[in-house]
Amino acid sequence: MDIISNEKIDKFKVEKANKILSNLQEELKSVIDNGSGPFLAAIYDENDNLIAKASNSVVKDKCSNRHAEMNTIKEAELYYDTYDLAPYNLSLYVTSEPCIMCLGGIMWSGIKNIYFGVPSKRVEEITGFDEGFKPNWLEEFKKRGITVYGNIAQEEGEKVLEQYVKSGKEVYKPSL
Ligand SMILES: [Zn+2]
Repeated sequence: MDIISNEKIDKFKVEKANKILSNLQEELKSVIDNGSGPFLAAIYDENDNLIAKASNSVVKDKCSNRHAEMNTIKEAELYYDTYDLAPYNLSLYVTSEPCIMCLGGIMWSGIKNIYFGVPSKRVEEITGFDEGFKPNWLEEFKKRGITVYGNIAQEEGEKVLEQYVKSGKEVYKPSL
């Protein structure tokens, strides 16, 4: 699938995000081997310093909102000692498109840039996770000054998700 964005595509940003997301997808394999995953997120400041990195921990923490993005935002807010990350112009990189909950979490955190790997449609097709309803979120984020790039290093990400499913790991969700 082609790269998508809510701004005019900047090749430099895509190249940088491709490197970071490829590395995150690679690292995600060992995260999965250690019982977490299949999602991993990292936050960088505007000088490319790594500020926070975390995987999802829903199963381990017995907490339904412990998604990779939420865990990473929490780490960054502890690091800066504030609930408002907006002054720091931070970028969130995440191995798959944020779910409906994490879009809210990102909005309230003041994160300014998002780069994601596998789009939700493919995550749902491959794994059976429910990503929620997200009408026009790229446009809505643009209105709020949040830049989004997606489908970056997507192929590598899909392979990791396929591996997760093949290995029989838990696709956690509320029971019907
Ligand atoms: Zn989420």
